Amino acid sequence: MPSFQSYIDGVFTDGEAGFDSLDPATGRVWARMPEARERDVDAAVSAADRAFHTGPWPRMNASARGKLLSRLADLVAENAARLAEIETRDTGKIIRETSAQIAYVAEYYRYYAGLADKIEGAVLPIDKPDMTVWVKREPLGVVAAIVPWNSQLFLAAVKLGPALAAGCTVVLKASEDGPAPLLEFARLIDEAGFPKGVVNVITGFGPYCGVALTRHPKIAHVAFTGGPETARRVVANSAENLASTSLELGGKSPFIVFADADLDSACNAQVAGIFAASGQSCVAGSRLLVEASIKDEFVERLTKKAEAIVTGSPLETATELGPLCTKRQRDHIQALVDRASASGARIVTGGVMGDGEGWYYPPTIIDCDGVDSPSLTEEFFGPVLSVVSFANEAEALRIANDSAFGLASGVFTNNLARAHRMADGLRAGVVWLNTYRAVSPIAPFGGYKMSGHGREGGLAAALDYTRTKTVWLRT
Ligand code: NAD
Repeated sequence: MPSFQSYIDGVFTDGEAGFDSLDPATGRVWARMPEARERDVDAAVSAADRAFHTGPWPRMNASARGKLLSRLADLVAENAARLAEIETRDTGKIIRETSAQIAYVAEYYRYYAGLADKIEGAVLPIDKPDMTVWVKREPLGVVAAIVPWNSQLFLAAVKLGPALAAGCTVVLKASEDGPAPLLEFARLIDEAGFPKGVVNVITGFGPYCGVALTRHPKIAHVAFTGGPETARRVVANSAENLASTSLELGGKSPFIVFADADLDSACNAQVAGIFAASGQSCVAGSRLLVEASIKDEFVERLTKKAEAIVTGSPLETATELGPLCTKRQRDHIQALVDRASASGARIVTGGVMGDGEGWYYPPTIIDCDGVDSPSLTEEFFGPVLSVVSFANEAEALRIANDSAFGLASGVFTNNLARAHRMADGLRAGVVWLNTYRAVSPIAPFGGYKMSGHGREGGLAAALDYTRTKTVWLRT
């Protein structure tokens, strides 16, 4: 049975405890993971703190930091097949998706490699002839990067890339559900030759590992991706040290289709928008808002496509829908579908979990028209689409914004002026017009409302891992 290790202070080590990781496709144990509790967390944070205060990393020439990040990008690309397979094995995410996503991971590290020497200070045009005043940008310090189970390599890259480019050191906590890809990724950090302690990779359970990490007095910033409930605890615990936080949280993203849209394109985008990663995606387009005049036709098209999705082993390249990451997640989805059904919503397709081995859930569509269904407001994080119709643009916008979340949104229309109006009116951090799920390291990403605060991607994300120091010199 494969056995993984933590990476602390440049050394691979068994955790102070251990736990079994289950293969989501079979429900059986497939690997052994190291569990970090208070002792390992303290060792990892102390190593990162030493690397920050006495090691070469923050003082290193910025382009030398960029070169190491570039080397890491190369190593990710060279080891893409192995990383993708391990992620698929440990999380159940299908091999097609993990393979495609790993290319983005390399791209993010490459982008931040190029930005490392473009983080600049400024000389201020102060109105005092005997003074020279300049502003330096200095790295924040030790960053705790905490990620959930879906897309761990990607969600780590959007934190590590900018944090390392800025000169911070990092303790990366992989999710206890499917931590293998990040523990394996630590080997590439080691091979790239980062100074010891600059990146430490651990995993463990939220109440022990997560709490110890966010409470640690040497943490300067917590970059967290996960659920809103956990985020509240993260903020409360890190508040003891007044550490800053950036929060990438859940979503209930509206996918809005007007009658004038290219319906083929909208239908394909909606299928990928909700069923990719078995719906375990923060940007899943999980609320379909469709203009009433085309609702029946559009839902029928979608249903045909949903029913044709090939479900199977996540390691097979022909598979289009794999299992959920955990049994807990599958049971959560079933319970929410049952509540939607009890509220009067109509299950158009799916809605009953598989009874074979593995934690599979079928593509599910729920018609919620005229019903106050909980499936319209609560995040499933699963392959379940809730549908409502609207009469006009104003109603579409009202329904779309009637959510505690505000992460992503999609609008399909061929009316350019309407597309602009919708982009202006949607209360979400990302608006995709006639497309869905497009990402780029250059583009900022993050939420409104309960979907969090702070942005990942782009130059601003790297600046967020710095603070300014203003220096006054009397000349
Ligand atoms: P979660 O909040 O349960 O766990 C996320 C991480 O937090 C895990 O590593 C977990 O161990 C850790 N954790 C748990 N309790 C903690 C505590 N008290 N202190 C510190 N850390 C703690 O999330 P999940 O259920 O694993 O993931 C699903 C959620 O993540 C969904 O809401 C989803 O929308 C969100 N998500 C958001 C984005 C985004 O970029 N906005 C991306 C992916 C997932």
